[in-house]
Amino acid sequence: MGTLSIDVCIAGSGPAGTIAARQLAQAGLSVMLIDRPAHKTHKFGETLPSAAIRLLNKLGLSSLTEQLQTASHSNVTHSERVGGNMTFWGSNILSTTDYIHDPYGFGLRINRKNFDELLRNEALLSGARFYPSDVVGLEKHNDIWKIRLEDGKTIHSKWIVDATGRSAKLIKLLGLERYRGVPLVALYRTCTPQKNAKLNRTIISASQNGWVYTGKINDHQWVIGYHTTPKTATQFHHDNKQWDHLISKNVGLYDLLGNLEFGKDIFSHDVRSSWLEQPIGNGWVACGDALLAFDPIAGQGLFNALYTGMKAAEAILAAEHNENNHRNYTTEINKIINTYENRRYLLYKQEQRWTENPFWQAHQTVAKTT
Ligand SMILES: Cc1cc2nc3c(=O)[nH]c(=O)nc-3n(C[C@H](O)[C@H](O)[C@H](O)COP(=O)(O)OP(=O)(O)OC[C@H]3O[C@@H](n4cnc5c(N)ncnc54)[C@H](O)[C@@H]3O)c2cc1C
Repeated sequence: MGTLSIDVCIAGSGPAGTIAARQLAQAGLSVMLIDRPAHKTHKFGETLPSAAIRLLNKLGLSSLTEQLQTASHSNVTHSERVGGNMTFWGSNILSTTDYIHDPYGFGLRINRKNFDELLRNEALLSGARFYPSDVVGLEKHNDIWKIRLEDGKTIHSKWIVDATGRSAKLIKLLGLERYRGVPLVALYRTCTPQKNAKLNRTIISASQNGWVYTGKINDHQWVIGYHTTPKTATQFHHDNKQWDHLISKNVGLYDLLGNLEFGKDIFSHDVRSSWLEQPIGNGWVACGDALLAFDPIAGQGLFNALYTGMKAAEAILAAEHNENNHRNYTTEINKIINTYENRRYLLYKQEQRWTENPFWQAHQTVAKTT
């Protein structure tokens, strides 16, 4: 590829970027998806919420969602059905929700690499192209973006879409500010519980210095995610005893699962809430985590990525038809931020056992709305 001229250049081929690419290519625009070669996400044990499955079906991707489910039966992609939530939040008394009472049905514990590949294939089938590289530079001349790639190539494009996830690379290159919420680190690792290893629920449990997410990935492995302060996360990184202590002190979780046998590797993620004050501008738009990254307690990151990817594509198509859709996109995103932030605040506020503890104090400060 020398210098290429196209309609839309999308940086990031996660769920947000690939859905945007698919919609735009289907509408007849020339689209290039750029992502780092052989990028390892270290994301595992994520739950695709039922609302996201419904959205994919609505977008004409029911063969993809069926593939995920069929694969779950043949155990190829390890997409376990998630039958609901079990929570210990506010007390040690178990509270459960069942997928039967969810209007959208069950969720799926997906293999992210497979899921992203399936979505990317759909974008390519619709006519989008893919180029493996890292976006490293950005300039604009006469309404045309010049996107510089790590391998020295340049792409000329009318539109750019930032779908680079939490790194928000294009937004940084544009010099735009992002709101960053209270620091929150997630430590993820695999584990095997002593009891109830076949349970197909997501288990969420509050603890003194954070909260725990756990659930079955496949017949052999579970995932555990501990969400806490950066300081506590550093201690947990270097001391396995802290993990045993976390589980044994957590009465509800311990009664349910017994001791956990932990996998060796621990993956650390910055998972604080963050968002962009301005989601769209002249010739650019942001979507997915680059636009709005949720605290994982919301459990809606993938839905948000797919939804805002779809909406970003609609905003570009409206602008191409001379309808100025900037205000609609901005209003819709602000609504999502306000709903999310109020819900997040109310959820943390429900836990009243450790109100003097720095973790809970920090997360119980008043919601930040736009
Ligand atoms: C620990 C953890 C647990 C989570 N659990 C859940 C869950 O259970 N359910 C749920 O719904 N959500 C969950 N989420 C959230 C979910 O992972 C994200 O919301 C989702 O991945 C966002 O999709 P995206 O397409 O916006 O970004 P991403 O999936 O992050 O994709 C961004 C892409 O951009 C690429 N990229 C980055 N920089 C560049 C660059 N300079 N040039 C080119 N490409 C670039 C990256 O390689 C990547 O492929 C979790 C997140 C974390 C961190």
